[in-house]
Amino acid sequence: MSYIAASLRLMVAHRALFRCEYCKIPDLGFGIPFQVDHIRAIKHGGLTILSNLAYCCPDCNRYKGSDLGSCLEDETVLIRFFNPRTDHWDGHFGVVDGVIQGKTTHGEVTVGIFQFNSPERVMYRKELIINELY
Ligand SMILES: [Zn+2]
Repeated sequence: MSYIAASLRLMVAHRALFRCEYCKIPDLGFGIPFQVDHIRAIKHGGLTILSNLAYCCPDCNRYKGSDLGSCLEDETVLIRFFNPRTDHWDGHFGVVDGVIQGKTTHGEVTVGIFQFNSPERVMYRKELIINELY
């Protein structure tokens, strides 16, 4: 983990409207502080600049780690993850009954590796939907 100035963290959070830029849950009431993710990890040459940072819930940040992408099942082609700086969320994902579905290969690999649809996360998302917070 690298040092990110408090002012830069705040800019990232504001830009994201205080929601995880990957799974879209709000940080309000989550109980654990959200983190700032290097979309392109430092070890892959990523910089600590606004255009390479994403506001991120602890789950998404943990599952993503320093990865840049993955392969779909039974495939060998590397597919990059959804990039909140260059991609539009609605173009890559849809939500049905609390479950996030990938609409594109980028969406599909992101859903899988980030474990968007673990039972706990779907349950939490459904609660947010019921309370009109998602
Ligand atoms: Zn998330």
